[in-house]
Amino acid sequence: MNELRGSCLCGGVRYTLTAPLSEIGLCHCQQCRKANGSAFAANAPIPETAFQLLAGAELLKAYESSPGKQRVFCGHCGSPVYSRNARKPGVLRLRIGLLDTPAGHSPDFHFMTAYRADWYAIRDNLPQHPEYPS
Ligand SMILES: [Zn+2]
Ligand SMILES: [Zn+2]
Repeated sequence: MNELRGSCLCGGVRYTLTAPLSEIGLCHCQQCRKANGSAFAANAPIPETAFQLLAGAELLKAYESSPGKQRVFCGHCGSPVYSRNARKPGVLRLRIGLLDTPAGHSPDFHFMTAYRADWYAIRDNLPQHPEYPS
């Protein structure tokens, strides 16, 4: 596979992935909208073991946005890096807007569309899940 690398806005946090992206979901929940300041977040689950931090461990901060769910971001520039959920050990949900290399994968679906921002209309043909896809 092509190497996947990502970094935050200030460049302090840098990582590489040792596994390809298997799935990209576009999350319209209110928390993701607020955490990203945008209409949705583009998230990809990856095994924790495939995420290798190259720099910036001291910059990473975590905010527990709901019980057991931590949103990890760069404490200097605020870029969202990934989230982790205690109910899904070993999996990180990567915020793929931070990738510096081609993702090699297109979005697969929208989810939490019941909470979509009224100012954003979905105009693609991807599946839409009103809640979290099971
Ligand atoms: Zn940063
Ligand atoms: Zn979300």
